[in-house]
Amino acid sequence: MRFYFLLFVCLLLVTAGFAQSASATKPAVGFSIDNIDKAADPCVDFYQYACGNWLKQTEIPADQTEWVSFVELYERNLVTERDILEKASANDPSRSAIDQKIGDYYNSCMDEKAADAKGVSPLKPDLDRIAAAPDKPALIDAIARVHLIGPNPLFNFYSSSDLHNAEQVIAYIDQGGLSLPDRDYYIKDDAKMTEMRKHLVDYATEMFTLAGKSPQQAADSAQTVLRIETALAKASMDRTLRRDPKNRDHKMSKDQAVSLASNFYFNRYFAAAGAPAFSELNVSNPDFFKQVNGVVESESLDALKTYVSWHLLNNAAPWLSKPFVDANFKMQKHLTGQDEIQARWKRCVDSTDGALGEALGQKYVELTFGADGKQRMLKMVDALEISLNQDIHSLPWMSEDTKKQAKLKLDAIRNKIGYPDVWRDYSSLKIERGDLLGNYLRANEFESRRQIAKIGKPLDRKEWGMTPPTVNAYYSGSRNEIVFPAGILQPPFFDKKMDDAVNFGGIGAVIGHELTHGFDDQGRKFDPQGNLRDWWTEQDAKEFETRASCVADEYGNFIAVDDLKLNGKLTLGENTADNGGARIALMALREMMSHDRSSEKASQKIDGYTPEQRFFLGYGRVWCEKRRPEFSRMLVSVDPHSPGHYRVNGVVQNMPEFQQAWGCKAGQPMVRANACRVW
Ligand SMILES: [Zn+2]
Repeated sequence: MRFYFLLFVCLLLVTAGFAQSASATKPAVGFSIDNIDKAADPCVDFYQYACGNWLKQTEIPADQTEWVSFVELYERNLVTERDILEKASANDPSRSAIDQKIGDYYNSCMDEKAADAKGVSPLKPDLDRIAAAPDKPALIDAIARVHLIGPNPLFNFYSSSDLHNAEQVIAYIDQGGLSLPDRDYYIKDDAKMTEMRKHLVDYATEMFTLAGKSPQQAADSAQTVLRIETALAKASMDRTLRRDPKNRDHKMSKDQAVSLASNFYFNRYFAAAGAPAFSELNVSNPDFFKQVNGVVESESLDALKTYVSWHLLNNAAPWLSKPFVDANFKMQKHLTGQDEIQARWKRCVDSTDGALGEALGQKYVELTFGADGKQRMLKMVDALEISLNQDIHSLPWMSEDTKKQAKLKLDAIRNKIGYPDVWRDYSSLKIERGDLLGNYLRANEFESRRQIAKIGKPLDRKEWGMTPPTVNAYYSGSRNEIVFPAGILQPPFFDKKMDDAVNFGGIGAVIGHELTHGFDDQGRKFDPQGNLRDWWTEQDAKEFETRASCVADEYGNFIAVDDLKLNGKLTLGENTADNGGARIALMALREMMSHDRSSEKASQKIDGYTPEQRFFLGYGRVWCEKRRPEFSRMLVSVDPHSPGHYRVNGVVQNMPEFQQAWGCKAGQPMVRANACRVW
């Protein structure tokens, strides 16, 4: 079970587990004019101009799927976290309770020898529990247990705010149960997707063999997995449709939900999962549960057991013995192109962050994040909010009524910076030295139970959806808040040593991006309190749609890899946020420069570039990016963000401010004839 914030949109795809350290010849982590390719023309290809030298000097490390500023920072954070964890690992009886948990978790994870010696045995009790189910109703108890300790066969069960009463947390059931990254992988017939299905079958065959089945049984089991997952994929809503919260808004009585899948006995499931009593829930995709019903009816008990065991094996594989780890990585390699597995210590730091993120995070912020950092960020957030407010007021296409409502929403956005005010209490989570898989499963169960226990309770607005070392940021529509973990408040996003222009192009545009999410194609459907409520006049909504479809068309024509185009509708929210974010960040910079007493100094060139040019160079630097083609291909299906190249060029070609700053002329590629502008 994973942590769900409904409408949680971030700055980049969370690709935990893909990273590697920079070699000494790598370009500087922060902003540097050395990254610029002066032979390129900024008006022809600004991305090439801002990143050309960086691209020339950068190679994707073997254990990476991509190399980009986020990953560079993530790598640096890993080293900091490792130091914390190694110190906490010392088996010292006087350790603090937090050090015992994070230290013993990490120490157990690092004990590769012990994991290898145990083979599949740590998972045996749970595999046996599935195998022992005498009939389908009894298997439901086993499925509930599997959902608690990690993966989500058949569907997802979680808690989140009620779409129409954001203060109240309710139960959700939603589509799920796939092992490949998206429904497209099961449904599309092109060569690449067909190949991935074959890899899945090979991988599952290998895993079942390792778990003790005969080669023939293992091969048959793998076909069972593919058959059931394909049935579920066919009933899954695609990612573009899921972007519209109205398509996921199906609150009903528990009895109604139960009757959608009468073969599944949902009441038995909810009891086995330890859910508190409730009478209503949201069924995000009711048609999907009709399919679950069909699968449970048509598949044999044995086939269902095979499918559920598969999810458990696949989920636990990275924490079992080497043959399981290798088989699991081989599949990863097919999907992403990553050449080598990450060093074990990196995987273990990641896993500790996933299991005990707010315990490890406490130590991380003590070391890295000071009060001054928080103050400077708050000042920038204020400046960006003022700019967005002015921007909304100046929109020629929006009526006064809708502007008033938009301002109410903007004023209500909450800011979270650095780390949570209240840290999560892990005292009831047992972490035992030497019990790698047990710790992992118990941590999953702790988190699942914490989520389920929220059903029927008021929303806890103090909660965070990312851990402090995370190099990312997010906006949550149902909470109407923007969140910036300490991990992102570093160069090249935010550099104390750099001029304001570069910082406004970096973290300023990030803040603007998150604020704009409150007003993108998804965010605009939520009111200041986070309720799904239409506050737009009909005419203004139409005007919005027209402008948004300009952005969808623009990005839908960009080539991501080979001949594969971006999905303009899937990436619409992120592209809207990128465009709005850059615009209001530049407005905020101009505003600040105009108030600067020594405005002469503020407008001085540095390294031969004006502040506005440095703003765009700072913006470009954040998105300098190299990606493996396999990974690019996967992201076209699953990632709502555009590749770095277009996060830069797609934005600047819509901005007259850019063209002015660089002296670009009509007809040049970075001057779009029909420039798009939403915000
Ligand atoms: Zn975003």
